[in-house]
Amino acid sequence: MDREILDLAVVGAGPAGMTAALYAARGRMRCVVFEKKVPGGQIALTEEIENYPGIPSISGPELAEKMKRQAEEQGAYFVMAEVEGVVLPSAAGEPFILRTGQGEWRAWTVVVASGSRPRSLGVPGERELVGRGVSYCAACDGPFFQGKRVVVVGGGDSAFQEGLFLTRMVEEVLVVHRRSSFRAQPVLVERLQATGKASFLLEAVVEEILGRDKVEGVRVRSLRDGQRKEIPCAAVFPYIGHVPETEFLPPEVKRDGEGRVRARENTCTSVEGLFAAGDVRPKPLRQIVTAMADGATAAMAAEQYLSSRGQRP
Ligand code: NAP
Repeated sequence: MDREILDLAVVGAGPAGMTAALYAARGRMRCVVFEKKVPGGQIALTEEIENYPGIPSISGPELAEKMKRQAEEQGAYFVMAEVEGVVLPSAAGEPFILRTGQGEWRAWTVVVASGSRPRSLGVPGERELVGRGVSYCAACDGPFFQGKRVVVVGGGDSAFQEGLFLTRMVEEVLVVHRRSSFRAQPVLVERLQATGKASFLLEAVVEEILGRDKVEGVRVRSLRDGQRKEIPCAAVFPYIGHVPETEFLPPEVKRDGEGRVRARENTCTSVEGLFAAGDVRPKPLRQIVTAMADGATAAMAAEQYLSSRGQRP
């Protein structure tokens, strides 16, 4: 694609970004989506999706591929490159500049749909043993632990959904959670319990991941009585939430205390012409459908912004 000034640059090819691209392309905007890993964002790492209305069950990668193809067929263009920085327009009538792994791109509007990355536990052994038993992707690494005991940390939807997937191949999934109740949807909790392959250690935290060349166990501490114990396991899957991917944005783009881009319901941010969609902004519910709704809204807001400046036919 030529490097003329884009109508819209979308940062991130998750459900929010790909929906923004679909809507923008259908609105005949020149739109490029930048993605540093694989299209799909978090759904690319999800084995099975059951709460996408109209499709009772679909694998995450398949849904992601369909979204990408649909956006491309409507005229959106995908560039597999990391956006390392965004330079705001230096004056009225100037475009945004996106510094990427594939050079500089200029755009009149930007939709930030960069989502978030898994939060790490930050305990000894975690970083050292990534890829050797510590994994943030059950769908990718679960099959390596056939017939073994694995630990899942967390009490949210991800912990339960991925724990459920792991029960298909491992001997036992031990869920370690810091509270006595779960944040996860009850349907997921019930389903994991019903497998008969899950056990639960509540009001406890993982203090250390043990092992020299590969994970051999975890040291946990009870929050009830402070007692510590070592539990043998072959893998640890931390599912304790996510950290927004916003480091590439300049300080003029206002964030909240967690680093998420502050945006109104119409996805407008503190910077004119820059919109935020999906998990990257504060939201009461982070689901595929809510991310997609943001994406559609952001594309429309970008189009209205261009129209108001006489930059649309
Ligand atoms: P989440 O809902 O934020 O849950 C994170 C879990 O990790 C919580 O149980 C939290 O404990 C625990 N936690 C946080 N920091 C911790 C720490 N430092 N040490 C130990 N435990 C810690 O994150 P998520 O499960 O990744 O889900 C993210 C979003 O995606 C949610 O909105 C979720 O609904 C959505 N999602 C939906 C589906 C689905 O619909 N099927 C699947 C996956 C994700 P506390 O409960 O004590 O805070």
